Amino acid sequence: MFDDSELRGLLSMSPTHPVLSVYLNTDPSRGNADEYRLRLRNMLKNLTLDEDVDAVERFFRQQYDWCGRGVVVFSCAGEGWLRSYTLALPVRDLVQAGNSPVVKLLTNLLDNYGGYGVILVDKQGARAFSFHLGELVEQEGVMGKPVRHTKRGGASSVPGQRGGVAGRTDHMDEVVERNMKDAVAFALRFFEEKHIRRVLIGGTDENVAQFRALLPKAWQSLVVGDFPMSMTASHAEVLEKALAVGLAAEREHEAHLMQRLVTAAAKGEGAVTGLARTLAVVNDGRVALLVLREGLREPGQCCRECEALAPANGNTCPACGGLLAPVPDVIDLAVGRALAHGGEVQVMAPSDRLLALGEIGALLRY
Ligand SMILES: [Zn+2]
Repeated sequence: MFDDSELRGLLSMSPTHPVLSVYLNTDPSRGNADEYRLRLRNMLKNLTLDEDVDAVERFFRQQYDWCGRGVVVFSCAGEGWLRSYTLALPVRDLVQAGNSPVVKLLTNLLDNYGGYGVILVDKQGARAFSFHLGELVEQEGVMGKPVRHTKRGGASSVPGQRGGVAGRTDHMDEVVERNMKDAVAFALRFFEEKHIRRVLIGGTDENVAQFRALLPKAWQSLVVGDFPMSMTASHAEVLEKALAVGLAAEREHEAHLMQRLVTAAAKGEGAVTGLARTLAVVNDGRVALLVLREGLREPGQCCRECEALAPANGNTCPACGGLLAPVPDVIDLAVGRALAHGGEVQVMAPSDRLLALGEIGALLRY
């Protein structure tokens, strides 16, 4: 399972040979294994790292079981290693050769889908779940004293009010309160053990409110939502709730990024959009974050003198005026250059907004 310690391991590597990074979306909604294979072959075909391409193809042929919704492979044939992560979440397709593994897309997944804790509460007990990157890691339950319902009839009950209102007694309130406190203690221990970073609470409005109020402040700030759910819900139902929150976080992050890009580019401050302007800042090594549409490929040109990248339609190098040679995919080269200069890359889902700005753009470091 991919986690923070795996991430730290990848980030601390300083390979002495090139690394091939492959992200492949294998979500069943996107097709079957034959279709993924074809997409993969197309993505790998222009690469010059033959040994790594062979290693990746061998991995998909011999080891990969085509389960999950996304897979990430890093290969460094020069050092003789290959690492793979099968994910229960879809990833955006990307193939990139470089000096180090491209981990940014994985860190995005950890940010949005890592370390979810879900707690289902009622008056007697609680069930706690931990989910990481779309998978159930563990679940545990706690059961307190039974809450006996001794009917007394009369007016409707007011939670927390003393004095024996209908259907509810002081004794019952005490039992419920003790059970809730036990549930909170149980949940906190569970969350701490499982390194939970955000919390969802499920149950009736009343139970959720009571549970939430008993949580220490530090944990209250980690609660990202609540929802009505029965104590007998399956872990698949609970996971669906956690995934919906992760997806919303992912969408929000991307929408925010897009807004930043559009606003800054319009002002001409700190961002550019469109292929020609983006290639120019890539050539200058000014890219902090390259934003592009998933699967984007464009024929282009590369200067024979200074290796600057240029769109397909130019006659001479925009940097030095030298002669240009055609390249089959200038996007791939641009991503590689941006990463080599310490930039990051964000692959986006296709959208009208992205199309309107030319499907590629960059936030600049200066
Ligand atoms: Zn040039």
